[in-house]
Amino acid sequence: MLLETTAQTGGATRPENANGAGRANTAKDATASAQPVDLDRGIVDKGRIDLTAALRWSARLQLNEGVCNHFSLELAPDRYLINPQGLHWSEVTAADILLIDGAGQVLEGRHSLEPTAFFIHSWIHRLNPHARCILHTHMPYATALTLIDGGRLQWCNQNTLRFWNRVGYDDEYRGLALSEAEGRRIAGALNGRDVLFSASHGVTVVAASVAWAFDDLYYLERACMHQVLAVQAANGRPLRRVPDAMCEQVGRQIAGERQQSDLFLDSVKRMLGREAPGWDDLQDLAQR
Ligand SMILES: [Zn+2]
Repeated sequence: MLLETTAQTGGATRPENANGAGRANTAKDATASAQPVDLDRGIVDKGRIDLTAALRWSARLQLNEGVCNHFSLELAPDRYLINPQGLHWSEVTAADILLIDGAGQVLEGRHSLEPTAFFIHSWIHRLNPHARCILHTHMPYATALTLIDGGRLQWCNQNTLRFWNRVGYDDEYRGLALSEAEGRRIAGALNGRDVLFSASHGVTVVAASVAWAFDDLYYLERACMHQVLAVQAANGRPLRRVPDAMCEQVGRQIAGERQQSDLFLDSVKRMLGREAPGWDDLQDLAQR
């Protein structure tokens, strides 16, 4: 049985303000799990399946590294789904996805939680209310941009324009995020935006749903790939800049076509169904 039953999910109010003020918020603080939270089984299962599809296809696209990096989804205040420690994204099944609370305790699942995943994701969820889904990767072309002093997305490419006014840069590298302080600092650097480039490290993409975040992650990597290729091909010549007004217009146009994002994840699920039967299996989920 699920620990908590009956319906409540997206759009749930948060117990704290957007800055997380007034909370203890430490990994050792179990008070975050003290309050029962109602969760709908159907929403939990859909979240597991959506995250698994995004993980599997991201591995197919080689956006992963080893068994590192995490995708998470907030179901309610202090209730999150996240991929477990030690599993390659290409082998994760829906039953492997963990349900955790705001103190980092595993409420449902048979695996452990990786520490940096908790520090980064829990703080981003808390300090950025729009970030229901968080995807953090070291995907090759976007990460390459973080290695360049002053590396920035250049507004030259239609794929890039969807990120107009949505991108932040954290130019200060402070090592692995193994503390509450670093997790909070990274979350603060996102500061309400949808994309964060972390210097010498990787990128984080957030959105209201797994489908939207995954679509943005995919097109961010495509945009960075095109930029890297263009810079190489340009041989010192400047890239052709799209005027600000057009960037603004195209950004709005793509934001108004979000059905494409939902359809993309739907297509991924169909392809996985044909090519990797069992990827969405929930039958062997422990503790149900
Ligand atoms: Zn990372």
